[in-house]
Amino acid sequence: MEETILVINCGSSSLKIALFDGQLNKVSSGLAERLGKDDAFATVKGREERIDLSAGAGHKEALNALVNVWQDCGLLDETPAAIGHRVVHGGETFREAAPINDDALAAIKNCASLAPLHNPVNLTGIEATTALFPDVPQVAVFDTAFHHTLPPKAYLYALPRQLYNDWGIRRYGFHGTSHQFMLTETARILGKTPATTSIISAHLGNGCSITAIRDGNSVDTSMGLTPLEGLVMGTRSGDVDPGLFDFLANKDMNAEQVHRMLNKESGLLGLSGQTNDMRALCELADHGHEPSQTAIDVFCFRLARYVGAMMASLAHLDALVFTGGIGENSSLVRKRTLEHLGLFGFTVDGELNNHHGNISNGQIEGADSRFRVLVIPTNEELVIAREALVASRNG
Ligand code: AMP
Repeated sequence: MEETILVINCGSSSLKIALFDGQLNKVSSGLAERLGKDDAFATVKGREERIDLSAGAGHKEALNALVNVWQDCGLLDETPAAIGHRVVHGGETFREAAPINDDALAAIKNCASLAPLHNPVNLTGIEATTALFPDVPQVAVFDTAFHHTLPPKAYLYALPRQLYNDWGIRRYGFHGTSHQFMLTETARILGKTPATTSIISAHLGNGCSITAIRDGNSVDTSMGLTPLEGLVMGTRSGDVDPGLFDFLANKDMNAEQVHRMLNKESGLLGLSGQTNDMRALCELADHGHEPSQTAIDVFCFRLARYVGAMMASLAHLDALVFTGGIGENSSLVRKRTLEHLGLFGFTVDGELNNHHGNISNGQIEGADSRFRVLVIPTNEELVIAREALVASRNG
């Protein structure tokens, strides 16, 4: 049987898993949800029946169940050739994907204080696959690694230097695999090499970040020490005045409450008071719901401001690229955002924008636009699968 690659993405109560063949075609994918709860279950894409897991089932049981399905139907041989894991934070240690060994595991643990909600659960996923496939090469692919080229002027906060020296407090950036994929796809579409391509990449999903990529290197990005900084997101506030913390402390809100409010109750949800789902917001706005209209306005305006800010890092711009669930599907968000950017010379072709980009190259800019504007579907799993395949062939 031909070689297969597993790609694993663990959340605190979920496991996403994808199966690729040796030519990096996605063969199947599965999802386990409500892990740790009484009603944990898993599904395989394209199959109706859901797999009920035992009450309180964790990542390991979910992995076993999904792998069993693929083995039973012959999609997966005894073992995969390689396994790739999404790991959120690689700190300053990981500048690229890393083979998983004892040293790498210790370093990922070390980065956990920078991403306490994510790295421990990513390690749980690694433990689960190691238990099931002890001899298969595994690789960790970091959300932060692509941003290792940020210069100090972009990654340092204007705080006492000691905070960086002692605790690593700096801007790291996230969504690196998606921004990297935008770079390679844009270069391919424009017939250039990634090393000579400069883009602004806007990843707009439930989490949102924007990155300036200059001649193939990330040189500025909107997320910072944590994925909370920058753009307005589904439930995250993005940038706020740091004076807010002091103000709220005087209103008797403690750090945990403020953390929760900024991460879970803000962004599109907080502004609209209704939903973090852009599609639902657009429908509400269509029906005249004023807070939803305002939420979309704030989202697009903040995004446009950040596009302007990213220009400061570039010598030339090959394309502004939209991706993620909102970036790929919301013609309204793209149009509103580009309308703010007329002074830079961006224009949009209404027809192409409504079709989410020219079918052959994703183009949505108008004929008179100073810059190319593209819509490109992201594929973070493919980036991770590719890294895993390379590692397995090298190892
Ligand atoms: P992601 O995290 O990349 O899956 O993106 C999730 C976001 O994409 C949610 O806010 C969805 O509402 C949004 N989204 C998905 N499809 C559409 C659509 N057709 N129009 C507007 N937003 C969409």
